[in-house]
Amino acid sequence: MIRNIPLIIAGSFASLPLAAQDWRVHEMTRPHPATAPAVPTARADRPPPGAVVLFNGTDLSRWRSDDSLPARWIVGKGYFEARPGTGTLTTVDSFGDMQLHLEWAAPAAAKGAGQDRGNSGVFLMGRYELQILDSWRNDTYSDGQAGSMYGQHPPLYNAALPPGTWQRYDVFFRRPRFGAAGELTEPARVTVLHNGVPVQNSVVLRGPTTWLARAPYEAHPDRLPFGLQDHGHAVRFRNVWVRPLPEGDAPPPPLALRPFTDQERQTLAGRYGAATVADSAGRLWLDLGDGAMPLVAAAAGGFSIEGVDAAVEFEPGAVNTLVLTVGGVKIRWR
Ligand code: MG
Repeated sequence: MIRNIPLIIAGSFASLPLAAQDWRVHEMTRPHPATAPAVPTARADRPPPGAVVLFNGTDLSRWRSDDSLPARWIVGKGYFEARPGTGTLTTVDSFGDMQLHLEWAAPAAAKGAGQDRGNSGVFLMGRYELQILDSWRNDTYSDGQAGSMYGQHPPLYNAALPPGTWQRYDVFFRRPRFGAAGELTEPARVTVLHNGVPVQNSVVLRGPTTWLARAPYEAHPDRLPFGLQDHGHAVRFRNVWVRPLPEGDAPPPPLALRPFTDQERQTLAGRYGAATVADSAGRLWLDLGDGAMPLVAAAAGGFSIEGVDAAVEFEPGAVNTLVLTVGGVKIRWR
C-alpha cells in the first residue's frame, strides 16, 4: 500500500504550469462532496430525493408565461401541453449547473414537415436550445433535429421514437462562466441522453442558439429559469425535474513561497535511501524514483512539493531521513 504512494505522487506531477489559483494535488482542506442517496435502477427516471419537481402531474404552479403572466399551457391527465400562441413556458425557479430530466411527446397525428412538425425545445437559461422535434421519419437540417443543440451541434444519433410516444431527455448542463468584467471565462457545456442514447457528449456551446445566425455570448446571471418553446405545435410534457448540481468551491489563495537559501540547498541536497534531493537551477528537486519534482519553501516555514498538499521534512541524525506527509500519512526515506 505505502509502496504505491510514491508512484501515485509521481504520476500526478504535471509539467503544465499551475493556474494562478488552483487546488493543490491531494489538498486536505478541499471540501468533500455531499452524499447523494442512491436511486434504484428501476426508478432512474423518477425524481431523486432533493430534486426540484417542476410538474407534479396536476398543475403548472412552478411555471409562468414568458411575459410573466400565469402559465397558459394546457394541463391534461398527468401531462401538460403547449398551447400555440401563448409563448414560451418558463420555470419560476432559476438554475445554473443542473441535471434535467423531462419527458415529451410530439403530437400523435403527425402534421407538417421539417421544422414544422412536433417542434418545441428546452431553452436552457432561456438562451441555449436543446431542440425538441418530431424526428421520426422527418428530415430537416441535422443541427435542428431532435437532440440537437439548435444550429450548433447535431445529435450523435437519431434516437427519435414515433410521434405520440413518450420520449425522454436527460440533460447534464454546465453553465457558462463570466469574469468580473463580463468576459467569457468558460463556455457552456452540455451532455444529453435522448431515450437513453447519448446524443450530445459534453459539447461546447458557441453562444446562444439562434436561427440563421451565430450569436456571441453575452454575460448573464449564474442562475436563470429555463423555458419550453411554443413553436405552434401541441407538444406534451410530463415528469420534469431538476437536480441542481454543486458548482465547486473556490480554491484558497496560493501558498506564499520564499526562495531556498544557499545553506538549505547545500545541506539538504543528497541521498535519503532510495530518494534523492538535487540542487539544480537555484532550487531543490525531489526524486522518489519516478522523476524529479520541484520542492518549494513556504514563506511561513516548511517545505513542500510544488502544487501538492504535501509536507517534506528533513530529519537530522546519523542517517539522512526525509519524511513526506501526504493525505495525513507519513512516509519515510532513509
Ligand atoms: Mg424548437
